[in-house]
Amino acid sequence: MATYQLLDGKRCGDALRAEIAKGALEVRSGRGRGPHLAAVLVGNDGASRTYVEAKVKACEEVGFRSSLITLPETTTEDDLLHRVKQLNKDKELDGFIVQLPLPEHIDADKVTLAITPDKDVDGFHPENIGRMVLGLPGFLPATPSGIVELLRHYHVETAGKHCVVIGRSHIVGTPMSILMSRNAYPGNCTVTLAHSRTKDLPTLTRQADILIAALGKPEFVTADMVKDGAVVVDVGIHRIADAARKSGFRLVGDVKFDEVAPKCSWIAPVPGGVGPMTITSLLLNTLKACQR
Ligand code: NAP
Repeated sequence: MATYQLLDGKRCGDALRAEIAKGALEVRSGRGRGPHLAAVLVGNDGASRTYVEAKVKACEEVGFRSSLITLPETTTEDDLLHRVKQLNKDKELDGFIVQLPLPEHIDADKVTLAITPDKDVDGFHPENIGRMVLGLPGFLPATPSGIVELLRHYHVETAGKHCVVIGRSHIVGTPMSILMSRNAYPGNCTVTLAHSRTKDLPTLTRQADILIAALGKPEFVTADMVKDGAVVVDVGIHRIADAARKSGFRLVGDVKFDEVAPKCSWIAPVPGGVGPMTITSLLLNTLKACQR
């Protein structure tokens, strides 16, 4: 049994945000205005609103300007694409995000493609994904980039390790697998990318020196799926009903923390692991956009 240490995203995020705030001040004194991020929220999804408001608040805390653009659920795809075009041209704006998921009648891919890569601080545009694959400068997708920064902050060894990523979404699993396999630190892993068609997942995950769980299934990864001494990064985030809490719920990840943590060398908890790092990466991308 290993004695585990926490990959503390709050602590790491705070350290990085202090650096970002310094960078924002420097930019402001150099060119008269600091970084400016806009977030577009379409519809009334409660979780999306919480995420967007957290992003806006984080901007204020590091001295960025932020604009929250809320559009009704009935917004048409054309209206949203028109709004994106306006934001692309807005010279007072360094970057913007369109919060996902979008209402069903809007094609999210069309919207992603319409965002100019120069302002795509979520890093979802194919040009930025291509730049990441080729190791060229660009915006990295926020969650995988936050995980990389977390591993770097805690000096976690990655070279030569077997990294198993569970989940192949375009925003988390797939870019994560690319970043962990690149010739850089953190990186230089041998990567296995698992998904819902993967056969005998536990046999694979038990071979992982670094296990990144991003499948979106509450407490799916159990102790028997994890090797002693592994580094485990839990990306999932779920609200579970809990009558003992005042709020009526608690947050859990894709990993059964209580039984998995004692087997780990390092583990990123939920909450307080990957979540705060995702927002920090968005701030980093916005600062980068402003410095360009
Ligand atoms: P997603 O788009 O739903 O993708 C889930 C992936 O997991 C898919 O590739 C799916 O395979 C795979 N999968 C599902 N069930 C599986 C199983 N039983 N075994 C192996 N693979 C399985 O999810 P996502 O957007 O990547 O998000 C994943 C989780 O991370 C969610 O809980 C989300 O809320 C959370 N998240 C957190 C943050 C943060 O900042 N903390 C940011 C983003 C996402 P197929 O491709 O075959 O369907």
